[in-house]
Amino acid sequence: MKFEILHQSKKSRARVGRIHTAHGVIDTPNFVAVGTNGSLKALDSKTVEALGIQLMFCNTYHLMLQPGSKRVAEAGGLHKFMNRSMPIITDSGGFQVFSLAYGSVASELKSQGTKQIDGSVLKINEEGVLFRSYRNGDKVFLTAETSIQAQKDLGADIMISFDELPPYHMDQTALIDSMERTHRWEKRSLDEHLKDPRHQALYAVIHGGVDVELRKKSCAYLGNLPFDGFGIGGSLGKNRPEMINMLTEVMPFVPPERPNHLLGIGDLPSIRDCVPLGVDTFDSSFPTKAARHGTLMTMDSTHFNITRGKHADNLGPMVADCECYTCQNYSAAYIHHLFKAHEPTVMTLASIHNVHIMVKMMARYRQQILDDQI
Ligand SMILES: [Zn+2]
Repeated sequence: MKFEILHQSKKSRARVGRIHTAHGVIDTPNFVAVGTNGSLKALDSKTVEALGIQLMFCNTYHLMLQPGSKRVAEAGGLHKFMNRSMPIITDSGGFQVFSLAYGSVASELKSQGTKQIDGSVLKINEEGVLFRSYRNGDKVFLTAETSIQAQKDLGADIMISFDELPPYHMDQTALIDSMERTHRWEKRSLDEHLKDPRHQALYAVIHGGVDVELRKKSCAYLGNLPFDGFGIGGSLGKNRPEMINMLTEVMPFVPPERPNHLLGIGDLPSIRDCVPLGVDTFDSSFPTKAARHGTLMTMDSTHFNITRGKHADNLGPMVADCECYTCQNYSAAYIHHLFKAHEPTVMTLASIHNVHIMVKMMARYRQQILDDQI
């Protein structure tokens, strides 16, 4: 993998870059679509490519349980299995496992500690995490080494090191212990990867929770190791302003010559606020999830719900001037009707629109950075 910076904005830390992988180029900053099971919901791989999604995020945890990473390897790797010729990034599996153990940061905050943890995580120690498969009850031992092996089986262009996702509510001593163990796991991930690098890249994940000084330490430690890029993970605060404050402090310490990725965050206001801080890529299921609920995006970063009654008699496109397949071929009234009638095709049509808008919006951000407007 090679990363080149084409332009550094004169106005902010924003930059326009290009990540070169074995399966092609990723222009940055960019949005990364989340296809958990090797499929973006309601859109097949060729449609996703045609829409211009240059990088797709697939979840190792789900794929190793179903259909199993070995089966994907036997099929020739994930690109071949899902018929995608463009780049793929996979995560370590740790995020989902620790979400089961601790609850995700979002659910922890939302539920105010009332969320029931399902007991599928059996043991967490220095070696890794033992958990029970929700598919068939098998015990699975996830370690730095088995995570990298699974990601080698999948054949992702970009892999992510095995890390612990500490809960938002954690005392300082436990947070330091968690970060230091994560650093050891990430070093082990790197060692395992470098035994057989193939054409894959490996990102580290910067941790330290909501403690700025720990975040800086994490940047320093991981920055000294030959990772290809950096994910920014874990809790960055309990709301967007806290996250932006944290990233404003931390981004100057993330090695600038390598690409970075903000894990699991890609809603429109967060992208708007994080691009000027120098974040290169964002992954989120927001555009497709929103689309499936009738929430459609516009180029001015707003969204509206097509299921509202006022769209029932609009025979024009859902979004004026939109060049997407859906807006070119169908009226707002028809899409509204399909939602009301629970026709499954509308999931595809609405998702096409939102993904198209997302791709266009990221291209516009890149142009604005090139013009030093951001
Ligand atoms: Zn459209």
